[in-house]
Amino acid sequence: MEPASGPVHRGLYFPDYASLDSPQLLCQRLADRASTLGAIFHEAEVRSIGVAGGRPASLHCSDGRKLQLDGAAVIIAAGAHSKGLAADVGCNVALEPERGYHVEIANPNITLGRPVLVSDGAFFASTMQGRLRLAGTVELAGLRREPDWRRADAMVERARSAFPDLRATEWTRWMGFRPSMPNSLPVIGASPLVSHAYVACGHGHLGMTLGAVTGTLIADAILGRYPMLDQSPFAPRKLRSFNPGIHDARARRLTHPPTGNNPCHSRDTRP
Ligand SMILES: Cc1cc2nc3c(=O)[nH]c(=O)nc-3n(C[C@H](O)[C@H](O)[C@H](O)COP(=O)(O)OP(=O)(O)OC[C@H]3O[C@@H](n4cnc5c(N)ncnc54)[C@H](O)[C@@H]3O)c2cc1C
Repeated sequence: MEPASGPVHRGLYFPDYASLDSPQLLCQRLADRASTLGAIFHEAEVRSIGVAGGRPASLHCSDGRKLQLDGAAVIIAAGAHSKGLAADVGCNVALEPERGYHVEIANPNITLGRPVLVSDGAFFASTMQGRLRLAGTVELAGLRREPDWRRADAMVERARSAFPDLRATEWTRWMGFRPSMPNSLPVIGASPLVSHAYVACGHGHLGMTLGAVTGTLIADAILGRYPMLDQSPFAPRKLRSFNPGIHDARARRLTHPPTGNNPCHSRDTRP
């Protein structure tokens, strides 16, 4: 099925498996569609959410801006960075990032017809618009530690064994956070303590796969529609000793320097 593979002892074929060759293009198309429907995008890093009168009132940004919400609902969908923002609206989210890496090989000399999980190499290989992406590894090292690019480069070595005709001379490296929960269940739904505040995070290894379902569940909750499935297993838990009034005063005092460049991309093309 995959002529580029070397000798394979055993394999499983999943005929209903779906994949994307450009997650970025999918996100761009979704954003374009949202714009067409009237969405307005503000680019900002939200450092905290101010709460007043039991509902979200303002977003406090790292560039010093304070965006007033004027009664709008807030959805916390900041991936692995959602924990603190969820706490701002009274939710206890035991989120931990599972860091993963990928490399993308230019001119790889092979093309795969579908994503291939090389199980003894513990990585996925997928053709992405002409390039070969190798993705995998799990690293528990928090949000701040520098990427360990050896993990990415090790996948290239394993791919050379799995795909004998692979030409790997030039590649880029990336590290990302899988926002993971201890019980592997995402957190989806309304805050139990602050009205008009919602959480949608914790999808771990499957956020791309599950994003559309989560979006529908959050829309159901905001619009008061009958949900497409029972949301109770995913409901956000209360934060102990949450005081919205104190929280808002503290948020007003916070000032934050703008953040620097994203450290998660490697500029090197060759190790
Ligand atoms: C190597 C690797 C391979 C993966 N492969 C797959 C796969 O094959 N299939 C799959 O389904 N999933 C896969 N995943 C998991 C998937 O990427 C995540 O589950 C998914 O991205 C989580 O989506 P999210 O929207 O919750 O978070 P993110 O995609 O992280 O998006 C969060 C957004 O919030 C923004 N943000 C964060 N903090 C703030 C802030 N303070 N203020 C404003 N904005 C903020 C970020 O900039 C980002 O745009 C993979 C992950 C990794 C690391």
